[in-house]
Amino acid sequence: MPKPAQMMVVTPHPDDAEIGVAGTVARWIREGKDVIYVVCTNGDKGTSDTNMKSEELARIRGQEQLAAAKLLGVREVIFLRYPDQTLEDTPEFRKELVRLIRMYRPEIVVTADPYRRYIWHRDHRITGQVTLDAVFPYARDLLSYPDLLEQGLQPHRVKEVLLWGTEEPNYRSDITDTFDIKLAALRCHQSQIGDRLAPEMGERLRQRAKELAEGEDFELAETFHRVEIQR
Ligand SMILES: [Zn+2]
Repeated sequence: MPKPAQMMVVTPHPDDAEIGVAGTVARWIREGKDVIYVVCTNGDKGTSDTNMKSEELARIRGQEQLAAAKLLGVREVIFLRYPDQTLEDTPEFRKELVRLIRMYRPEIVVTADPYRRYIWHRDHRITGQVTLDAVFPYARDLLSYPDLLEQGLQPHRVKEVLLWGTEEPNYRSDITDTFDIKLAALRCHQSQIGDRLAPEMGERLRQRAKELAEGEDFELAETFHRVEIQR
């Protein structure tokens, strides 16, 4: 059984975690915490390049995700490799996440907010919803999966969930000292950002992070909807 991790980040596509939480991930790792990534889809639809084939894109995006995670100091990246745009709220997907939560026993799980209204990538909505369901009640309850129990995967209580991409932020995380690492991790996703990560994009993202920190005693923030799970 692997060593428990303090944080598990469940990301719909390669690159969403860097956009949503990389500054916070880098800070946690600097504080000595272990972070694990679970990447749900292979991102094989994320291109407007007419010469790009899906298999090649999936391979490139896997490499980009590994490079970003390495730069941040993420301990392990687990790829579930569902094809892009095909995630559904299935018993199999839910059980896979429960299995990983019970195996890595994170205190905090971070994922996409499923409750963003109207236009929101379906994979983001479904990843967020299924992750929340996996955290509670399925990972917690003894009798949810007798076969996992037989494999030695005991129930686990996650203490807190952080949701990025939220319309209802209630928690701001200080990324002042790790903003530059976040930017560098984002730049690993070259197939997604292309020329958009020209120098001015760094400035634009810094400005946005500054606005999100307004009123705090730190300069730059990432924001989340935070759910503390009662015992
Ligand atoms: Zn995405």
